[in-house]
Amino acid sequence: MRLIRSWVDSANAPDGPFPLNNLPCGVFSRGDDPRCGVAIGDFVLDVTALEETGLLDLDGGPYLDVPFWNDLMAAGPATWSAFRDRLQRLLAEGAPDRAAVEPHLVPLAGAILYLPFLVSEYTDFYAGRNHAFNVGSMFRGPENALPPNWLHIPIGYNGRASSVVVSGTEVRRPWGQVKGADHPAPAFQPSRRFDFELELGAVVGTASDGPVTVAEADAMIFGYVLLNDWSARDIQAWEYQPLGPFQAKATATTISPWIVMRAALEPFRTSTPAREVPLLPYLHEPGPMLYDIALEVGLTPEGGTETIIARTNYAEMYYSAAQQLAHHTTSGCPMNTGDLLGSGTISGPTKDSRGSLLELCWGGREPIAIAGGTRRFIEDNDTITLRGHCKGAGFTIGFGACTGKVTPALADPYAR
Ligand code: CA
Repeated sequence: MRLIRSWVDSANAPDGPFPLNNLPCGVFSRGDDPRCGVAIGDFVLDVTALEETGLLDLDGGPYLDVPFWNDLMAAGPATWSAFRDRLQRLLAEGAPDRAAVEPHLVPLAGAILYLPFLVSEYTDFYAGRNHAFNVGSMFRGPENALPPNWLHIPIGYNGRASSVVVSGTEVRRPWGQVKGADHPAPAFQPSRRFDFELELGAVVGTASDGPVTVAEADAMIFGYVLLNDWSARDIQAWEYQPLGPFQAKATATTISPWIVMRAALEPFRTSTPAREVPLLPYLHEPGPMLYDIALEVGLTPEGGTETIIARTNYAEMYYSAAQQLAHHTTSGCPMNTGDLLGSGTISGPTKDSRGSLLELCWGGREPIAIAGGTRRFIEDNDTITLRGHCKGAGFTIGFGACTGKVTPALADPYAR
């Protein structure tokens, strides 16, 4: 796969995140009503307007007359493919429709970005082997690091769709109940161990009712976003047994503003690693189901310089999103358009490739150096930025940043 050249010059830059090969789906405004847009070079193409004018005329539409992508997502893979084909013809170098399309380009620099889809439900998995091993080692020792089910089931928990926010939204340090070495009796206080988790989010397009295969699950996925599963480790440590995380994960989950469609990632497919124990047949993959997506995490103190504190790759996952989605349906659980599945924290095998501060600083025991200081956990007014890209021959598929600043806890919410 090579760069598909566009008459939008900035879309042809080899390192630019938004070439014609990408066409990620977002919702934007210039201060007026939000509408659907696709990033191309330094611009957002107003596809709501293109549909209104008839330049984008998809069977069964309109799909983009609402400020979210769910209607198009629900229409299924044939419509997604027709949508991409049409946009690529309209924007290709030498396209005859250029004069009609060009007025609908809006500079990305001045655009306000919103959640790109209505999040119907949110499930978070725990499918990175290095992350599960690291966290398990800290709490149970390396011999018992992986729970006994881990190599057989992509384990997860049901999160809160209501907590999902778009990149750029500030995240308030939460209060919660903690108990630990410093607190022999339970105490209610602001989290002192607030953390990020570097994840990829899979966005379900078509709905299901009943069990689906891994191949069917893959076909249901509309695209992917970067996802930061903010985590209060001190609250989590006290509350999580036996039912898993609850308030520790409910403050916020930040996603990047552009859904990179599965079709844009096809050239970067790669396989899950060799199975350490055979999986049950319903989890067998018919082909490569991961993607080679380079990922990094930046930490920027208030008024300071960003330090890249981790670099890793989505190909480090043990289970793919398609396996997770297939497993999610085994009970008959219906999946909806707009379901968001967090991959689980993506950590590589080396110390500098760990996808959370919990792991990078080994439970707070080994602070890491950043420009102008050190960190064990996130401090007030730190900004965490996740980035991701795939590198093709002369082009890049970018995700757009997934960023959030942690603001100080409010006064005791119950002191009235
Ligand atoms: Ca997580």
